[in-house]
Amino acid sequence: MMSHHLTDHEIQEYISALMQHEPHEALKHLVTCEACNKEVNDYLLLMSDIKKQERPSFDFDVSTLVLSQLPIQKKGKVQETIYAYYEVILAIIVLFGLLYYYRKTLYLICSASLLINLLMITTAALIMMFLIYDMHHRYQKKMMILHNM
Ligand SMILES: [Zn+2]
Repeated sequence: MMSHHLTDHEIQEYISALMQHEPHEALKHLVTCEACNKEVNDYLLLMSDIKKQERPSFDFDVSTLVLSQLPIQKKGKVQETIYAYYEVILAIIVLFGLLYYYRKTLYLICSASLLINLLMITTAALIMMFLIYDMHHRYQKKMMILHNM
């Protein structure tokens, strides 16, 4: 049995349970406490008054007014595609530049034994997989935070 008076939250939970015809532990306290009973009645009165309120109506169409003020997305998409092409071209140029710059090192790597090459490729692949997994995990976390906002 509850020894204290019901909080606003407990009263709201009790009313919610009452509306759904479910039992609630607050009922034991309400049987003996007149002050909390009055609070519950005030809440019920307030709720019935809110339900009686007339729904607001506008003499203009709200949805067209709001939709007309939203920014148009199409212009941005074309620019994004152009930037994506530029980034791919830049990445290819940088890759070939690096290959040319490290050509002597690459020649040494290619002339090393097969076992060493396999070891390096496996290590690089494992590190790459870990980095991609980590990046994907962080992306998922950020998206979860964004969706819960
Ligand atoms: Zn009470």
